[in-house]
Amino acid sequence: MVEDWPIRQAQDKPASPKRNKNMKFEEPQSEQKPESKEVEEVPTEQALSEVELKSSEKETSEFLGTLKRSVRNLVLFYASFGVHSAHKETFGEINFDLQYGSQQEQLEELREDLATKEQRLQELFGEYFQSPFEKIEEELEMERERFKDRGLFAKGSNLVSERVGPGESEVVASTRVSALEGKDGVLNEQAFKDILVKTFPQGWVRNEVLSIRQIDEEKAESKRSEVAGFDETWKVLAGIRHGAGHWGQIRLYSPIKEYKLFSVLGFIAHELGHANDWEHDNEMSIEERMDMLLAVSERLQAEDRFYSHYVESIENENPQAELYFKAKEYWAMICEQYYREPLMLSIEDALLVEEHIKKSDPDFNFNSARMARDSILAANIESN
Ligand SMILES: [Zn+2]
Repeated sequence: MVEDWPIRQAQDKPASPKRNKNMKFEEPQSEQKPESKEVEEVPTEQALSEVELKSSEKETSEFLGTLKRSVRNLVLFYASFGVHSAHKETFGEINFDLQYGSQQEQLEELREDLATKEQRLQELFGEYFQSPFEKIEEELEMERERFKDRGLFAKGSNLVSERVGPGESEVVASTRVSALEGKDGVLNEQAFKDILVKTFPQGWVRNEVLSIRQIDEEKAESKRSEVAGFDETWKVLAGIRHGAGHWGQIRLYSPIKEYKLFSVLGFIAHELGHANDWEHDNEMSIEERMDMLLAVSERLQAEDRFYSHYVESIENENPQAELYFKAKEYWAMICEQYYREPLMLSIEDALLVEEHIKKSDPDFNFNSARMARDSILAANIESN
């Protein structure tokens, strides 16, 4: 059976617009630069330096550690060229070429191979499709600048063939969580963490999400709501934000307390869907990103698509924008529904989610995950 899907209430009782509080999720714009006061979640030191490596200029102090480690290498490098007073910019260029030179060629070749798919996506979504090629070109350019500024060796990763962001399996242990409060009780931090680690697909949280916190506030309306065509009668339950780093921060807002914890976990699954989509997943190749968006847009227009009032109500005068926002939310909705009850999905949608899960968690089994989740919930729920 379908749990208390929030939009239902609003449809059944069309009261005055002010009372008619539909519920929605939203994903704040990823271009937003995080303001330091808002980012109170502090990742582990290793994670922090990794995340900030990708941000621009601010990480001088974190960089000193890397600098020290690199001094020996640099001395050897300078010596081997017999140049003792060369400009660091030159070495930056050389180091960049050593680490990343061939990647630009690889990127160009791959772009030719995938030209048809890229063109199709541009036709569908126009400027709303941010090509993964351009993203990686930008990252390569940032690396070039970094090498030029500091003339350093850095551990190079292949940005073209793999898109694995910072961290590895231990990251799941460092995802910060708060306790959860729902209509039927409170779940403490440890129990919530157990549920994340043991009952959600590993690749959904690991290496994707920095923090999941419930706060006792309502979310102010954001620009994205206007762009996506939501009006003020929608209330935000949860959102995910990707700042300069590769990991998302999930927030749950006070209206979520009107839902049972089972549903609260469903809303979290929705946000985890966003953290693992073609834009934000840290474990997908370029082609996988493009294939996923193509597949989702196909499902979105299929007659037997998963129907949600939330997705269907997205409107925008720009049809490409509308389709793109719908695709983003459609994916998150089928992830949420997969968590709630996969049998309610059409087979194509269920397979879309399942295939994605299997890439990072081949052993994931929905049934055993559900049983584990139910028993952790039952054993830990405390009345509020
Ligand atoms: Zn969403």
